Amino acid sequence: MAEERNRRSILEQAQRPGNTSCSDCGAPDPDWASYTLGVFICLNCSGIHRNIPQISRVKSVRLDPWDDVQIEYMSCLGNKVAQQKFESKVPAFYYKPTASDCQVLREQWIRAKYERKEFIYIEKQEPYSAGYREGLLWKRGRDNGQFLSRKFVLSEREGVLKYFNKNDAREPKAIMKIEHLNATFQPAKIGNPNGLQITYLKDNSTRNIFVYHDDGKEIVDWFNAIRAARFHYLQVAYPVAGNIELVPKLTRNFLKEGFMEKTGPKHTEGFKKRWFTLDDRRLMYFKDPLDAFARGEVFIGSKENKYEVLEGLPPSTQGNHWQHGITIVTPDRKFLFACENDVDRSEWISAFRKVLSKPMLPQEYAVEAYFKHKP
Ligand SMILES: [Zn+2]
Repeated sequence: MAEERNRRSILEQAQRPGNTSCSDCGAPDPDWASYTLGVFICLNCSGIHRNIPQISRVKSVRLDPWDDVQIEYMSCLGNKVAQQKFESKVPAFYYKPTASDCQVLREQWIRAKYERKEFIYIEKQEPYSAGYREGLLWKRGRDNGQFLSRKFVLSEREGVLKYFNKNDAREPKAIMKIEHLNATFQPAKIGNPNGLQITYLKDNSTRNIFVYHDDGKEIVDWFNAIRAARFHYLQVAYPVAGNIELVPKLTRNFLKEGFMEKTGPKHTEGFKKRWFTLDDRRLMYFKDPLDAFARGEVFIGSKENKYEVLEGLPPSTQGNHWQHGITIVTPDRKFLFACENDVDRSEWISAFRKVLSKPMLPQEYAVEAYFKHKP
């Protein structure tokens, strides 16, 4: 029976090298396939493919009937061949999403590849490859939380991202150096599916701005333009470093975020609930997740440099607080935190341990010294 033969064939193809992870996000054991593109994809990505029916038609590997022509076509393509075609000219700095990334990143990756064919025709990469980009973004007001349309300019030549409060203003409202810039999608926190958090350092303290664009392509283009600018900046700053070293430094996702309670240096002023963000070695806390400035920061060094994380609080700890304590020991003092539940605590502890187990880089000693002598 042809039907039975085809069913066996598609299952066998799904086991071939390259087809055992989703062609778009890398998730293991994809159960779906696009029979017009010839790729094996996960359930999540198949949902995105369904939104571009003029390009992609999907079927379940296991549950749908397959005809001879489709089987033959899948057999000639598969993920490896399709990737050679659709990803042949992906720039080194371009962000390739994983299964855990937000919807806008995964959807735009799929559209960029198959719908716009940006990595076949390099002239389509101009929005993030030209070294200059300007346009309007909705930016959250610092104190009132209202989103207002603002002009942004990214200039590699000047080494900055800046924005203007009025379109005809000569002086930018803020100038952010590419050297100290980070960008990370935060749709849940910002409350918009295209929400992007841009973080920069000014006088060694962290500032946040929150932006979005109504068009998913536009915001992902901004994100990759920032990555391109960072890439070119780092190539000049570290001329001997290769792409493998530089690409992970372009943008950082936070290791963990969430509410904890903390107490002050004397441990007598009671615990206060704060929003914490662990960005590499910087543990920052905010009154509100969308605050522009961190209320404070704790530098987390390495084990070799006498930093330690302990479960629980010292027995002498006073006051009302959440039940699940964490103590961070630094060469100077102890920091006490309390989590609402045990799962939260385990996640924070494993995030801290990740940082503690990494040896400190030369430039991180300067950051540590700054925090030690902070007034
Ligand atoms: Zn996928």
